[in-house]
Amino acid sequence: MSITENYYTIKNKLPENVQLVAVSKTHPVSSIQEVYELGQKVFGENKVQELLEKYPLLPKDIQWHLIGHLQTNKVKYIAEFIDTIQSVDSEKLLAEINKEAAKHNRSIKILLQVKIAAEDSKFGLEINEAKNLFQKYISGNFPHIEITGLMGMATFTDDEDQVKKEFLILKKVFDELNQLKKLETLSMGMSDDFPTAIECGANSVRVGSAIFGRRDYSK
Ligand SMILES: *Cc1c(COP(=O)(O)O)cnc(C)c1O
Repeated sequence: MSITENYYTIKNKLPENVQLVAVSKTHPVSSIQEVYELGQKVFGENKVQELLEKYPLLPKDIQWHLIGHLQTNKVKYIAEFIDTIQSVDSEKLLAEINKEAAKHNRSIKILLQVKIAAEDSKFGLEINEAKNLFQKYISGNFPHIEITGLMGMATFTDDEDQVKKEFLILKKVFDELNQLKKLETLSMGMSDDFPTAIECGANSVRVGSAIFGRRDYSK
């Protein structure tokens, strides 16, 4: 199927209240432009360098989400234009984003990335760290960021019960924090598990290969 057909297939599977972040990493600007012209405005990249190469070549009303691990020393390169940083996994990074956003006199939306997968290779905050950081944010420590929600990745497995269990853990944390201060976004689910994620309460999904095709890392 073509990228356009893939895009419509995915869109048709998403309830109206679920945001689609089209994950375009490793795919060319021409493919992003194609999906943009179908009406998609929100795209996700996981590497700062790649984002910086693509950003100047594409329409300025694209809302870019950074979804990959971010080093503090790279925040300054994206602070002027990034819409949302989904992968905030330390207080140090949060503080740096706040500082760089201040320089541009703006506010940057962020999601706290929480570790929910059983496998321990993934980045993310422990649940208690996420709660503590959210408390500090509520106390007003970071005026140039807005924590709009949480992001999580489930274990890479065919065991749907396991995946569901992990997504539900994050949904519970989301509900808890949402009581303290209103949150908008629960970002869970990728090409293989987004229907499960939505079942478990996700209202934003990050879909790459199911739209753009498989990634070829050899190029
Ligand atoms: C690559 C990536 C995705 C998209 O993965 P697909 O399986 O291609 O849909 C989603 N989230 C993160 C954090 C990613 O790095």
